[in-house]
Amino acid sequence: MTIYNKKQQQIAGEIEEGTAKSNWQDWRWQLKHSIKDIDTFEKLTDICFSEKERAEIEKTIARFPLNITPYYLSLIDAGDYKNDPVFHQAFPDPSELLMDRFEMKDPLLEEKDSPVQGITHRYPDRVLFLVSNVCSMYCRHCTRKRKVGDVDFIPSREIIKRGIDYIRSTPCVRDVLISGGDPFMLSDGYLDWVLGEVRRIPHVEVIRIGTRMPVVLPYRITDNLVTMLKKHQPLWINSHFNHPREITASSKEALQKMADAGFPLGNQTVLLAGVNDCPRIMRQLVYKLVQNRVRPYYLYQCDLSEGLSHFRTPVGKGMEIIESLIGHTSGFAVPTYVIDAPGGGGKIPIMPNYIISWSTNKVILRNFQGVITSYQEPEAYVSAFCDRNCKNCNLHLKVDEAPEYRSYGIEKLLSDGDETIALTPINGISYKEEYRENHNE
Ligand SMILES: *Cc1c(COP(=O)(O)O)cnc(C)c1O
Ligand code: SF4
Repeated sequence: MTIYNKKQQQIAGEIEEGTAKSNWQDWRWQLKHSIKDIDTFEKLTDICFSEKERAEIEKTIARFPLNITPYYLSLIDAGDYKNDPVFHQAFPDPSELLMDRFEMKDPLLEEKDSPVQGITHRYPDRVLFLVSNVCSMYCRHCTRKRKVGDVDFIPSREIIKRGIDYIRSTPCVRDVLISGGDPFMLSDGYLDWVLGEVRRIPHVEVIRIGTRMPVVLPYRITDNLVTMLKKHQPLWINSHFNHPREITASSKEALQKMADAGFPLGNQTVLLAGVNDCPRIMRQLVYKLVQNRVRPYYLYQCDLSEGLSHFRTPVGKGMEIIESLIGHTSGFAVPTYVIDAPGGGGKIPIMPNYIISWSTNKVILRNFQGVITSYQEPEAYVSAFCDRNCKNCNLHLKVDEAPEYRSYGIEKLLSDGDETIALTPINGISYKEEYRENHNE
């Protein structure tokens, strides 16, 4: 596979006669010529919709805009587009207008857990920071459909500054997940400023960026961008490949640049009906990811955002996929399958069951092949009573160097030094406030 193949040359030529390889590989050229209407789409792909189909697609676009980069469009197999995973992710489906009664605009309650605009603070030590509301391509399965492309959600410099202030004044935040939209839609200079501000905050240990550019616009990963990002290490970069077909010569080059620059790379995949709901496809995807030094991180159950019903699979499909990976392939090629809890509970990992039974001194387990085995538990283990007084503990924790740490949630029920015997959710009190109460912040 070459980077500027015949099909791409043909598409580029139709967009602008005499387009050189350097134009095609220029991300700004790609953005400028993104496909936003049916006519252009038809012209560039030779796909032809009926009048009835057009009318339905128009209606869908009016609600959820169409936006495809020429590069991503070039991956569509026009001859079999109705079964094409790239087409399904990029092109509107009238089913998007069918709302299931349990669907929600913001099923993850990202806005409720938002102390300031752009920040979602749901977990004790990390925040989600949305710095852009645009993407180079609008994924049809986007969980933040309500925001992406919406002019009401363009974060101004002022809003970003307030987000940064929140992080600065919240010492428990040690990990900042920068997302959007796509953060790489920002110019190098602007992103450099955002990253610099976050990096300067002493309690921020790790910064992560979530981007789909390696998939839909790999030319965005330029040498300049990578050089700028390197100033802000330690930085983790997470991408979003859903199908092995998306791993092309161009995306490999983008991944290589980032891996060579020393960023740990991860990937999150959304389980999508008609796109990747197949163990064989998923296995091919994770193989290709690890070949390119990308660690499969999460496999998401498609959430309950509006208009995604045609993409949703039963949870059993994800279980089947994970069952086909654990033990069958390298441990680091297996993502964690999660359901992002509707109502804002965060990500909940789900796994096939490997424990078959348990007695006071034996655990009965099964492996991926169906072998049933027993693990004899230690007879001499005496659980040391932990009263969280680490200074008197013989485990050699350097208390001055380790951050203060109190148990929270289920962990609290398990701990010795806490009197709590049951947890009661308090309606109307978000996690953040409850957490702060516990920490006397
Ligand atoms: C996913 C997510 C995170 C990061 O979660 P990890 O499990 O650490 O990757 C943080 N905040 C919010 C709101 C999220 O949705
Ligand atoms: S938290 Fe860990 S180090 Fe501290 S007392 Fe308990 S067991 Fe020991």
